[in-house]
Amino acid sequence: MSLKYCQGPECHTYMTQDRLKGQKGNKTYQTRRRSHFYYLGGNACDMRCQSDWFQKFGDQAVNHFGRITEVKHLTEQNAWVKDYDWRSSADDSHRHYFLNTITKEQRPLTEAQYNDRSYTINTGE
Ligand SMILES: [Zn+2]
Repeated sequence: MSLKYCQGPECHTYMTQDRLKGQKGNKTYQTRRRSHFYYLGGNACDMRCQSDWFQKFGDQAVNHFGRITEVKHLTEQNAWVKDYDWRSSADDSHRHYFLNTITKEQRPLTEAQYNDRSYTINTGE
């Protein structure tokens, strides 16, 4: 299995024992290598390295992938979230419903619909 290198630009400067490698008399602190990382979309070894990367490259990345240049709107048509009242009904089951976070309207929902992560009444963007 090939190892990935932490993309944190300062990773090698953090003086932890696991970064210190090499033969006696020739040791260096080195960029971490792992088969899997949990930060920066799988590219940084910890939150500090993720933060360092954003600090150095975030602005370029936003410009590269598309800067938001105008207000985006979440409309009433797309403001539905799933919610439930805990054991609100007599048969001890939860009452599930859609809640429109703008209009506060509620619409009933079955438990199966509630649990179906792909089920929505939002219409899109
Ligand atoms: Zn790192």
